[in-house]
Amino acid sequence: MLIKVGKKSIGLDKGKCDLPFLSHAHGDHLNGMKKKEEIIATQATLELASLQASIASHPQAELLNAGHILGSSALYAQTDGGSILYTGDFRTKEGICTKGATPKEADRLIIECTYGDPSFSFPSPHEVYSQIAKWVTQNQDAILIFGAYNLGKTQELIGALNEYCGITPIVTEDSEHFNKVYEKHGIKLERAVAGTQEAEEIMRGPFVAIAPPRIAKRSFASKLSAAFNLPAYSASVSGWVQKYRANTHAGFPLSDHADFSDILGYIEAVNPKEVEFVHGDGSQLISALSKKSPHIKTSPASAQRTLASPSPSQAAKS
Ligand SMILES: [Zn+2]
Repeated sequence: MLIKVGKKSIGLDKGKCDLPFLSHAHGDHLNGMKKKEEIIATQATLELASLQASIASHPQAELLNAGHILGSSALYAQTDGGSILYTGDFRTKEGICTKGATPKEADRLIIECTYGDPSFSFPSPHEVYSQIAKWVTQNQDAILIFGAYNLGKTQELIGALNEYCGITPIVTEDSEHFNKVYEKHGIKLERAVAGTQEAEEIMRGPFVAIAPPRIAKRSFASKLSAAFNLPAYSASVSGWVQKYRANTHAGFPLSDHADFSDILGYIEAVNPKEVEFVHGDGSQLISALSKKSPHIKTSPASAQRTLASPSPSQAAKS
């Protein structure tokens, strides 16, 4: 999606424009960014995405914290047609690595609605860290495998396991680039990388590991149990556990996105004349808004921008 700001077209998580805005470093937002020499983004986002571009700015544009992962930001811009706020992916609740998203009043709001369904109602991340710590304590004689994507959820889990359980988890080599950028930006993460001597020593007894969600399933836990001669259990860590069954022993509703009521609360704070939903199905939000705030004009995401509801295998993504 493009917006016209002054004389320039700014691409919202799209490289094909005069000046791209990159909200955060998740792969599904990097479309066309690789070849750009200048990008409106935070330093942490460019580092996480391994982009060589320099940081651009626009006198009519401002970045706001989006609370999704390290470096994530929303874009606020003054245009000839009024002010626009684009959230990118966002979370309003504070987590161990991120503060809650900062809203700002705008005429037009373009908002992400991955969890735009009232069946999603997430506890505070700190409450979920406590649930995780309880499960870890109850199973301290077992091997525990958490499923988490390499960027964002892995770092949040490492931080939670360090702080709430005093545990140094085993992590994949693939997550190390992201772990190091988080540390460079002041977030301390105690972990041991699989294959290193430190990890080998930890793995002489029961241990806790973080692996991609497609791997961290019951079947993988069974293989580990046989190999190490210890009980082994797997857990999904995702907002989708509130609706879909993952093939794991346990599930924790930790998401780096806003849930249904968080989205409505954010809209209320922005107080827009018009809302457009992207990255999800906005129909239930539109229906809720038509009752709560009938003065707000709403439009669903256009077909090409809308992501279909995830299959259970995609579901652990966020
Ligand atoms: Zn994201």
